[in-house]
Amino acid sequence: MSGIFGAYSKTGKPVLEEVYLGLYALQHRGQECAGIAWSEDGRIAAAKGMGLLHNAIEQQCLTQKNAPCAIGHVRYTPLPGSQQHNVLPIGANYARGAVAVSHDGLITNLKELTVQLENQGAIFQSSTDSEAILHLMAHKSHMQPLDALIDSLRKVKGSYAVIVLLNGVLVAARDPWGFKPLVIGKKDEDHYVASESCALDIVGAKLLRDVEPGEIVVIDDRGMRSLKIHHECFRGMRCSFEYVYTARPDSIIDGRSVYEARKEMGRLLAEQAPCPEAEITAGMPDSGTIAAVGYAERSGIQLEMGVVRNRYVGRTFIQPTQKVRDLGVKIKLNPISEVFDNKKAVIIDDSIVRGTTAERVVSMIRDSGASEVHLRIASPPVLHPCRYGIDTRKEETLAAVRMTVPELCKKIGADSLEYLSEENLIAAIGLPEDQICTACFTGKYLDENDLKAGA
Ligand code: SF4
Repeated sequence: MSGIFGAYSKTGKPVLEEVYLGLYALQHRGQECAGIAWSEDGRIAAAKGMGLLHNAIEQQCLTQKNAPCAIGHVRYTPLPGSQQHNVLPIGANYARGAVAVSHDGLITNLKELTVQLENQGAIFQSSTDSEAILHLMAHKSHMQPLDALIDSLRKVKGSYAVIVLLNGVLVAARDPWGFKPLVIGKKDEDHYVASESCALDIVGAKLLRDVEPGEIVVIDDRGMRSLKIHHECFRGMRCSFEYVYTARPDSIIDGRSVYEARKEMGRLLAEQAPCPEAEITAGMPDSGTIAAVGYAERSGIQLEMGVVRNRYVGRTFIQPTQKVRDLGVKIKLNPISEVFDNKKAVIIDDSIVRGTTAERVVSMIRDSGASEVHLRIASPPVLHPCRYGIDTRKEETLAAVRMTVPELCKKIGADSLEYLSEENLIAAIGLPEDQICTACFTGKYLDENDLKAGA
């Protein structure tokens, strides 16, 4: 999972600091490493490093550069990919000029492409998906760079939102199914592309629209133009997990406010899984909080901000090891005893992946004095791994795979446990059912024919 951001200034204004700020707003999408790339004297230059953005890149050094076009990346990399040479964007100076690529998603035919490219002489420097796109382009040096990029994207299967710096031009593309979000913004004469609209807000840009699934948007001094990667139509597979957990609530994805979608998940959860015995509703910060507002509103059970989150600890879900993840839960959340003392509570969380967090949270709330702890989850059970770029790990590690709902309820120590149904999840997101991916909940992956349609 990654956050990507690009900027192009028609008036030649330096944009590196804006890219840095855009990445700041996207830090929740990746905390392992960060990078920014731009053109300097016709060649790719970059600032990159490991860790959170402010550790990875020295902001001050960006103010001395005059680049009017740049792209940036924050990345979550499951171990062992977490290494300096895998920090993105990846750049190269090939026969047709300077190119740098940032990619969010998962290229499902990467192995196949890598073997093919290595047989043709390519030497890979990293294990990133983005490098395959670079090599595919380099092998089409008889084509114009933009045509080579389109040709490369036609060969790629799986999920991608990519931002490419191509000889000083900004290019953004989204896979034909629209798995990964990508939006375009504008401020005066300057254009921006970003994983989420919250990153446009930070630079004062107005959200223009989403990059459409299967679209390539080219931004240069002539303005913005739109091209298609494929001529065929594809069904939509917009990631429903973005609305459940991944995206920030102040983002708008494919025209739907993440805040509104989460609140509606809470309202529908209250109808579907009521808890009349509860005296208070509390949400698990951060992504369960908004669903809790909806649950309290629809159920009439008083909302309390009963669990406090330490803002300086990252999301447990995206910590790389189990040991760190376990510690993360403990130091991240703290229930307020005065809220829970001798109260029956219904707790709203966004999802249960491995179950470790839920178990610790229920136990902490009991220790805070709650007489009953009922857990309501604002999404269906996660039963399948994601094949499209969200790290939900192997199927056997998923709590809902290892246990039935009553077994899981017992394991985590709750008095009751219920989940939002798939129908209500789709209704809350508000996009047509055939435009949404719910595969990690339902196992309804794209089938081989769908994937081949993109080849
Ligand atoms: S499988 Fe789940 S996490 Fe992956 S793209 Fe589909 S909805 Fe999103």
